[in-house]
Amino acid sequence: MRIILIGPPGAGKGTQAAAVKLRFPVDHISTGDILRENVRAGSPLGLKAKEFMDSGSLVPDSLIIEMMRERLAKCPAGGFMLDGFPRTVAQAEALDELMKEMSVSIDAAILLEVPDETVVERLCGRRVCSSCGEIFHVTGKPTEADGVCDVCRGPVEQRDDDREEVIRRRLSVYHKDTAPLIEYYEKSGLLRRIDAIDKPGAVKSYLESAGL
Ligand code: ADP
Ligand code: ZN
Repeated sequence: MRIILIGPPGAGKGTQAAAVKLRFPVDHISTGDILRENVRAGSPLGLKAKEFMDSGSLVPDSLIIEMMRERLAKCPAGGFMLDGFPRTVAQAEALDELMKEMSVSIDAAILLEVPDETVVERLCGRRVCSSCGEIFHVTGKPTEADGVCDVCRGPVEQRDDDREEVIRRRLSVYHKDTAPLIEYYEKSGLLRRIDAIDKPGAVKSYLESAGL
């Protein structure tokens, strides 16, 4: 199974990918996570990507496409779920080329739909465990102890780009550069729309009804 997740920041792509992964043997590939690991490790890619990420801009297509070419080559036969890629039409075209080279194809592009104001509310309050990746929310899902992960006791922090002005910038980049993918995948008949405004458990059941 080869799936693409599309949606604005804060749509719940990471959360839903983790849930689908429990039901299907797919590789969850998050470009944001790979980039943040590179930033943390201080790799050449991380050094180049950091300033784009901190300002809420997209990392240049050429860097992302090269990174994904390498990552997809390591993907097991069970398939993948792409979270955060493609994010521009140029990336979608590059992915189509890569799929052709690998003699495989995409099964579906899932669009998680949420209004902008919900995104701002979710992301301003989002906190993430930097050890295990568990996601919390200051009001929706607070940690039991302040700043400590309920799951692994690791440090729970706010992402550098989860500040309101950066969130608004990420949203405008989404509408300008990523939303055109909706038409792109509609044309190829792969698009499936999922209402992602409800609680994660509800969205998960919509995905299950869609066969995921
Ligand atoms: P979100 O979807 O919540 O904005 P991600 O963790 O997916 O967050 O991405 C964080 C940042 O990483 C983005 O704002 C962008 O700078 C960069 N990034 C991630 N994926 C891509 C991509 N496919 N193309 C360009 N930049 C990307
Ligand atoms: Zn943790």
